[in-house]
Amino acid sequence: MIILMMGAQGTGKGTVAGIISEGTGIEQLSTGDVFRKNIKEQTPLGVEANKYIAKGQLVPDEITVPMVTEYLDSDLAKNGIILDGFPRTLEQAQKLDEILAERGKKVDLVINLTTPRDEIIDRIMTRRVCPNCKTTYNIKLSPPKVEGICDKCGSKIIQREDDSTEEAVNQRLEIYETKTAPVLEYYNNKGILRTEEVSIRINRLGKAVAADIVKDLKK
Ligand code: AMP
Repeated sequence: MIILMMGAQGTGKGTVAGIISEGTGIEQLSTGDVFRKNIKEQTPLGVEANKYIAKGQLVPDEITVPMVTEYLDSDLAKNGIILDGFPRTLEQAQKLDEILAERGKKVDLVINLTTPRDEIIDRIMTRRVCPNCKTTYNIKLSPPKVEGICDKCGSKIIQREDDSTEEAVNQRLEIYETKTAPVLEYYNNKGILRTEEVSIRINRLGKAVAADIVKDLKK
């Protein structure tokens, strides 16, 4: 099964994808995590991608599409995959359809998480991640048990570089609204879009949303 996680930054895509992955056994692939790993290891891909990521811009398709294709052809995707952060443009969505069609596959479900914009900004600014095991925390909503330390692996949690400046955060939200939102229409027209609101205002956080989705997938 091929599942896509859509939603602006800070809506909890990674958290929801992680819970769905645990509940269904389908592996999760976050393009942002793959880029960050490469940046940390200073690989040629990482050095190139960081020129865009640090500024809050999209990494060009010539780099991103082959990278995703490689994972789709790997063992990781043998039971399907949950893509978190790809596609982000209509061109990437169309390219993904082509790549999957060549392999006799298709996108089965697109999950779109929505959150009011003021909540998003607050959640991004208060987001922290474990650079080692990738667990995400929020210092207000879901802090680690010991301040600054990852519950799962004991590493020191950090703030992502592109989460720390308001300029980069706003730039990413603008890209989302102009480039990624049209992708939702593309999948809606195919009848495979499932939109879920994640908001502290309605007391519906990612965990509850993910649990509902896992339940439905297992039906
Ligand atoms: P994320 O962790 O999903 O917020 O991604 C972090 C950054 O990685 C984004 O702001 C982009 O610069 C880059 N990135 C991740 N996925 C893609 C993609 N599908 N296309 C282009 N750039 C991407």
